[in-house]
Amino acid sequence: MARYTGPKCRVCRREGSKLFLKGERCYGSKCAFDNRAYPPGQHGQSRRGRISDYGIQLREKQKVRATYGVLERQFRRYFKLADRKRGITGETLLQLLERRLDNVVFRMGFAVNRDEARQLVRHNHFRVNGRKVNIPSAFVRAGDVVEVKETSRKVARILGALEFVDRRGIPSWIELDRDSFKGTVKALPTRQDIDQDINEQLVVELYSK
Ligand code: SF4
Repeated sequence: MARYTGPKCRVCRREGSKLFLKGERCYGSKCAFDNRAYPPGQHGQSRRGRISDYGIQLREKQKVRATYGVLERQFRRYFKLADRKRGITGETLLQLLERRLDNVVFRMGFAVNRDEARQLVRHNHFRVNGRKVNIPSAFVRAGDVVEVKETSRKVARILGALEFVDRRGIPSWIELDRDSFKGTVKALPTRQDIDQDINEQLVVELYSK
């Protein structure tokens, strides 16, 4: 599946929010959004005026897509899936995005960002419940155990990410056993577990037009 490969900090500045797309840099003084919290481009600082409701909804949707690194077609598929399920559509949509294997690998601390997690999954570094899975969009379930393959436990990028995990923190729905390179999905995340600055209702309104 394709993904956005352009400058990451530009996306944060465009969406007016820290999306933590890079890793350690996002938590330090070099964060481009912290230093230049206005849209990118020549007119980034001068552009003013009221944004329409549609514009607000569109930007929120783009922000969620960029956060999870999902392209429009797949994102819309997730929305349709969430819309068909029982419960609050916006929350179900976020839960589906959180359940992606690349996101879970990132949340467990085996990668510094979701892009890297996706690449590591693609390169066969992980097993889910003892089985090889190399599909970043595969959904995990409650109780699933994701582990770094034994032969991959010396991969510098994974070790580097694990060093950084204390600073980032592990969400409460996940348990990490750092010594055995294993993470468990204790339960599927609820809305309260997802600390991302997202107003999912705006996405629902956009797609319900
Ligand atoms: Fe966004 Fe800052 Fe991270 Fe760049 S460094 S990706 S601007 S949070």
